[in-house]
Amino acid sequence: SLKVLEQFKNPELCKEILDCLNKEIEKEIRFMEVCGTHTVAIFRSGLHSVLPEKVIHLSGPGCPVCVTHESEVNAFLDLAGKDRVIIATFGDLIKVPGKNGHCLKNAQADGARVEIIYSPFDALEIARENPNDTVVFLGVGFETTAPAIAATVLMAAEQKLDNFKVLSFHKLVPPALDVLISDPETKIDGFLLPGHVSTVIGIHPYDFIGAKYGKPAVVAGFEPVDILLALLQMVRSRKEAHPKVVNQYQRGVSENGNPKAVEVMYQVFKPADALWRGIGMIKGSGLEFADRYESFDAKKVFDLKIGECPALPGCKCGEVLKGKMTPDQCPLFGKACNPSSPVGPCMVSTEGSCAAYFKYKVD
Ligand code: SF4
Repeated sequence: SLKVLEQFKNPELCKEILDCLNKEIEKEIRFMEVCGTHTVAIFRSGLHSVLPEKVIHLSGPGCPVCVTHESEVNAFLDLAGKDRVIIATFGDLIKVPGKNGHCLKNAQADGARVEIIYSPFDALEIARENPNDTVVFLGVGFETTAPAIAATVLMAAEQKLDNFKVLSFHKLVPPALDVLISDPETKIDGFLLPGHVSTVIGIHPYDFIGAKYGKPAVVAGFEPVDILLALLQMVRSRKEAHPKVVNQYQRGVSENGNPKAVEVMYQVFKPADALWRGIGMIKGSGLEFADRYESFDAKKVFDLKIGECPALPGCKCGEVLKGKMTPDQCPLFGKACNPSSPVGPCMVSTEGSCAAYFKYKVD
């Protein structure tokens, strides 16, 4: 199978697909990718610069850290200020600035207890070792991560680890796509759908893209050949009135995804409205605790308030996430804002568009 995988990087094959693309494309197509791994793959491989002129790439809200709303970041900081609280989080989040440019890393330097973990299960271990403290795991991520967090909650319930809580700021991808595609300013002609999220939810939650909007949507893998094939498919599907979602990543994604993972996710959580950075409130695009597990809900336990609040001064992340601006159009890009001193989350996360632009020096 290694040999098969090699094919997906094969430059001659890429060239052939590019030739087909060039031949078959009639009018301009603006496609949006909504997965941070695609963002990085498109820039790292150089695809960005070899695509036909009529293929316009818009980078969407595919980075979970980036779409975490300003008020959610502020809630992390509020939590960090509380007594007997240990925050457990994945690494990227600690550098995202919130109010007054303050981030969890600063809070940690000021004495807050912030532990970086690599798996949500590690947070259970911390809870067990610190029975007199409350351990709050910062639940950020899409359908890809939410099932594992849900499984952690089930385990905590089973082990009666009452001092373990989760702050659920998870986001669901399909409702966000619905909002983005109906935005007349962004003018999206098709979606390059995320491989990882689709592994969990399958392809049918995206049916509305063709059915309701008549636009193509293609699930893609992460090698250049995968992405090019998906784009070629998009150009072809576009000719249909109501194109069906196409799974161009069959070696990674099955039509129905992973029903078991989805089941665990909805055992613990239920859909709720959620705030996205730059986009605002999206109906049914988040996950809150199902009644049965609400004793694990850090938002309730600590009465944390989430709501609209001012964006970071000068940062254009919101526009970048909606595909309305490329990172280099932000006046701070590469100057006041760079990976060693990021102003916004799109420069903090390695999956963020601004960081990818900076690293691969896209021009
Ligand atoms: Fe925000 Fe920095 Fe990106 Fe500008 S370059 S949008 S300040 S993260």
